[in-house]
Parts: sequence; C-alpha cells; structure tokens
Amino acid sequence: VELENVVGGESRILVFVRVRPVSKKEKEIGSRCCVKITNRRDVYLSEFANENDYLRLNRIRGRHFTFDASFTDSATQQEVYLTTTSELVEAVLQGRNGSVFCYGATGAGKTYTMLGTLENPGVMVLAIKDLFGKIRQRSCDGSHVVHLSYLEVYNETVRDLLSPGRPLVLREDKQGIVAAGLTQYRAYSTDEVMFCSVLVMALLQQGNQNRTTEPTRANETSSRSHAILQVVVEYRVRDSSMNVVNRVGKLSLIDLAGSERALATDQRTLRSIEGANINRSLLALSSCINALVEGKKHIPYRNSKLTQLLKDSLGGTCNTVMIANISPSILSFSETQNTIHWADRAK
Ligand code: ADP
Ligand code: MG
Repeated sequence: VELENVVGGESRILVFVRVRPVSKKEKEIGSRCCVKITNRRDVYLSEFANENDYLRLNRIRGRHFTFDASFTDSATQQEVYLTTTSELVEAVLQGRNGSVFCYGATGAGKTYTMLGTLENPGVMVLAIKDLFGKIRQRSCDGSHVVHLSYLEVYNETVRDLLSPGRPLVLREDKQGIVAAGLTQYRAYSTDEVMFCSVLVMALLQQGNQNRTTEPTRANETSSRSHAILQVVVEYRVRDSSMNVVNRVGKLSLIDLAGSERALATDQRTLRSIEGANINRSLLALSSCINALVEGKKHIPYRNSKLTQLLKDSLGGTCNTVMIANISPSILSFSETQNTIHWADRAK
C-alpha cells in the first residue's frame, strides 16, 4: 500500500481500520460477523451477510468502504505500527508535529492498539522504541532530548496521568497551548531496547491506572476518558549560516474515549452531564477534522480541551492519522457502522 500523507505541502488525514478478533463471549454466543476485510484497503460491512457469502450479497445489502489500509484480526502490532505511525516518527525527527488517534466504541480495541500488552506492545511503545533506534542511528553526541507526558481529558478536565493530582490549567503562551505543571518525564535511550520497552510500558500502564474510573465500575478504566501521550523531541541543528538552533518535534498518540452513546443508567443526570462533555470533546474533534477535510480556513480548536491541547498537532503541515477500531461481531453492528461512517468522513 502506497501512502501519500502530504499533498502539495498541505497535509491530509490518513485513515485506517482495524478489526479485532472475535472475543470469547462473542464466540460463546455464536454471533455472526458483519465485517470483512476484502483486500488490504477495503472493508465490507453488512448486517446480513456472514463471512462466507459476502460476495453473493455484495452490493445488494452491504456496503464497501475504502481506507488507506485495513487490518484484519490477524494483523500484528508491528504491522499496524509500521503502516500507520512509523513515518510520523521519522517526521518528528525533522521537527514536524503529528498525531495518531484511535477511535471506536468501548471494547473495540483502542487501548490494545495504542498500549497493547507486554508480549504485544502497541503503537505508543513501538513508536518510542523506534524513535530511540532512529536517534541512535543518526547521532551519538546526545543532541536529542526526549520528553514524555501522559495526560487525560475527562469531563472537560485535564489531568496528569504520570503525577495524579489537581486538574491542570491550560494556558496559551508563545509556543502555543501548555498544560501548566504537566510532568515531563525525560526518557533516555538505552542500548537495551527491550528494557526501554518494558520501562515505557510500565510507565504507561501506571498512567492508565490513574485514568478516571467509572463510579459504577470501580475497577474498570473509564470509557469516557481520552488519554494522550505526548512525545516531544528537542534537538540542535546548524542553520544555513552555521548557527546552532533548537528544533522541536511533537508526536501525540491518543486513546480516545468510547464513541458509543452515553448509556442510560440509574445515575442518569451525572451520566448525561459527562456524556455531554465527552461528546463535546469528540464532537469538537469531529468538527475540526471535518473543517480540515473540507479545506476550511477556520478550524474550531477552541471548542474543547482535547482540541485545544492538539491545536499544534492537527492540521496545517502536521501529519494526522486515524485508526478506527471495530469489533467483527453483529452484536456491535450499529457501533461499527457509526465508526466506519465517521472514519469515511475523515478521509
Ligand atoms: P477499548 O480500549 O476500545 O475499549 P480494548 O483495547 O480494551 O478496547 O479491547 C477489548 C478487549 O479485546 C481486550 O481484552 C483486548 O485485549 C482485546 N483485543 C482488542 N484488540 C485486539 C487484537 N487486535 N488482538 C487481540 N486482542 C485484542
Ligand atoms: Mg480502552
């Protein structure tokens, strides 16, 4: 698959779809599949077809969607990383900002794709590992400095996941929006790449434990919180008149809140407030993406905390990548349909 992120100096959004494997529970129920990756780019979605007769039902009841690449349930973490994010890591080393989002309903595989497990680390860990590898290749004079920040937007409140405490205040300064007091973990590239992965994984897993939990599901990470890993690379280069100048590149990796509608529960009032706010951040992100896709001059970044934080990493000459995560099961059909339509509009 040939990918062309930058068209005539303007960036466009690369959109990918990843189907997760059928879960144990879905298997037990014996639910049918409603999605099929028909080649490396196309997703076929049908409420009626099963995996084998999708061709027969093709164009009668189902619909095809084309993306920059589509990943089946057997795609490896490495494959997903290489196709979606490795070029953005390269660009960050040239001072160009970028962002990668995982979008989809709760349970669709966003956190698996972004964080993954120790055995199968995801995009966040693989990106940092790759970044260190690339830095080692091009310099041994220690001129690159890498800082990691991990933060959460929950209910329009920004929190530091590496140092939980009071909400952070967003301030605008010359360099853009900054979260005042945010922990910047200085990451060192070690020769032991595996050690680096374990360290980063431990750091992020600890951070995920700090994500706001649902009041009714105490041990579960909230599906309403957005988690943002920011990787900032600072380095020195000589400009054309041989003066030493500082350059900065920033990569933001975002595990978005669940895209499903807020559930109606006994805690209805609280939920609807929270739901409204989550929708506000997701909605604001959608508005920004739509404005970018339509080539509008005004991009409404100010409408939510999430989009304020990502202002310098979204649009302009930044690289933007969207990974839409979906379940293969008919049980999640309407959520999958919503996710695919959303992803389709982001192209
Ligand atoms: P989300 O973050 O979107 O709510 P998760 O990433 O937590 O969803 O995924 C739900 C479950 O499915 C988890 O148990 C996860 O390990 C599993 N899972 C998701 N995607 C994959 C995949 N590609 N391969 C194997 N297991 C996966
Ligand atoms: Mg998750």
